[in-house]
Amino acid sequence: MARKLKNFINGEWVESKTETYEKVYNPATKEVIAEVPISTSEDFEEASQSAQKAYEQWKKVPVSKRARILFKYQNILLDHTEELAELITKENGKSKKEALGEVQRGIENVEFASGAPTLIMGDSLASIATDIEAANYRYPIGVVGGISPFNFPMMVPCWMYPMAIAVGNAFILKPSEKAPLLAEKLAELLHEAGLPKGVFNIVHGAHDVVNGILNHPIVKAVSFVGSRSVGEYVYKRGSENLKRVQALTGAKNHTTVLKDADLDLAARDVISAAFGSAGERCMACAVVTVEDDIADAFVAKLKESADSIKMGNGLDDGVFLGPVIREEAKERTLKYIEKGLEEGATLIRDGRQEQPDDGFFVGPTIFENVKTDMTIWKDEIFAPVLSVIRVKNLKEAVETANQSEFANGACIFTTSALSVRYFRENIDAGMIGVNLGVPAPMAFFPFSGWKSSFFGTLHANGKDSIDFYTRKKVVTARYPEPEFE
Ligand code: NAD
Repeated sequence: MARKLKNFINGEWVESKTETYEKVYNPATKEVIAEVPISTSEDFEEASQSAQKAYEQWKKVPVSKRARILFKYQNILLDHTEELAELITKENGKSKKEALGEVQRGIENVEFASGAPTLIMGDSLASIATDIEAANYRYPIGVVGGISPFNFPMMVPCWMYPMAIAVGNAFILKPSEKAPLLAEKLAELLHEAGLPKGVFNIVHGAHDVVNGILNHPIVKAVSFVGSRSVGEYVYKRGSENLKRVQALTGAKNHTTVLKDADLDLAARDVISAAFGSAGERCMACAVVTVEDDIADAFVAKLKESADSIKMGNGLDDGVFLGPVIREEAKERTLKYIEKGLEEGATLIRDGRQEQPDDGFFVGPTIFENVKTDMTIWKDEIFAPVLSVIRVKNLKEAVETANQSEFANGACIFTTSALSVRYFRENIDAGMIGVNLGVPAPMAFFPFSGWKSSFFGTLHANGKDSIDFYTRKKVVTARYPEPEFE
């Protein structure tokens, strides 16, 4: 029997009050590796009370002491890099190399949060009027709820709780029920680093826990990362309940390849961005728009490169493409491929031919002749399916991409500075890549989608995260000059 996961409340592993458990699979083998509780509102109530109690003490701990715990945590995580990466591959399916990259990105967030003392310093002015000065102090906001997706079980939670707790908040994480194991390890190591009980809590589950986070008066802010529809719901419900909400949502990222680009570099990076992590990345390349003059040559390179991809269990040497997360994700992808054909796109590489039985696999799939009124262009497929669109020039490439409701990332391959500038000024996207495939910013920059890829004001990471997880107090004080004899 697979192990039943527990919630982490007040520094203890606590059995959920639920009767409902969901299976957690290794998507590369279909093996059930754990069962996750679909926790109840009673479980959430317990966690929120514990977090609130811990917050009352934690907020008084000097920021330098809090940062020291984060600093120690960073080193502990580094020592566990291999173990964490293997766990990610097991529950998510991505290759070990990609998982190692994810661990590294997560650790960078902890490293950034360890700088909390300087990051939360306020501003002051010694003299705003005669004998009057003003100073701005930052304080935590209370209990923060985090809701994370399956595709980055380490990195995405690390966008949230390290900074939230470094600046003095308590945190309740609801990991994805499809990839809940990594969170367990993150909590265990955080307590090894010396975090007091109750500051970081995990409540596993689905809707009830999400609604607990959105409705409970104890929760003051909500960080969400996931799909567009759920993000919209989370943003609306959380805001209605007067909470701060940031919701990072879906994507349909376009890459433009111009005729003056290094085509080998572009093909290598587009293939990696489209099929790495089985296309299950919010920064995945979903559409490549190619200038007519080079389209035949470029498409040939894409196909050749996709043909050489090794698919399989991400823990095996040389495997690049792992499975998608679940049988339903695979079925959904196959339906999209059929839909693409029905709507008139041309399949130049059919991943349906490679579906080994032992996991939820779909091979690299490439469509040509894709048009912007097709479902495969409009929807986020979130699978190893790439669409190619031929365009006259850069202007048409930008106009095509800008028709999408999403605007997360966008890339350009070119050797022209003028084209880069035109692209930067005109493309709708929060994150832009120049001659690279996945422009995911590092921890000290904001992770920022536009349009339907983000709901809220302050993005994840960077200075935005400090603003999101703190509130300000401005003190204006008069000190009349003393009269001396
Ligand atoms: P998802 O929206 O299905 O799930 C995200 C979280 O919401 C999970 O914890 C899940 O349990 C919860 N949830 C799901 N359905 C819910 C519902 N009806 N009511 C309440 N809660 C619900 O997303 P996913 O499939 O886990 O992740 C993939 C999505 O995440 C993609 O759309 C991807 O683009 C997006 N994503 C975005 C970013 C970004 O930075 N913009 C980063 C990573 C992933």
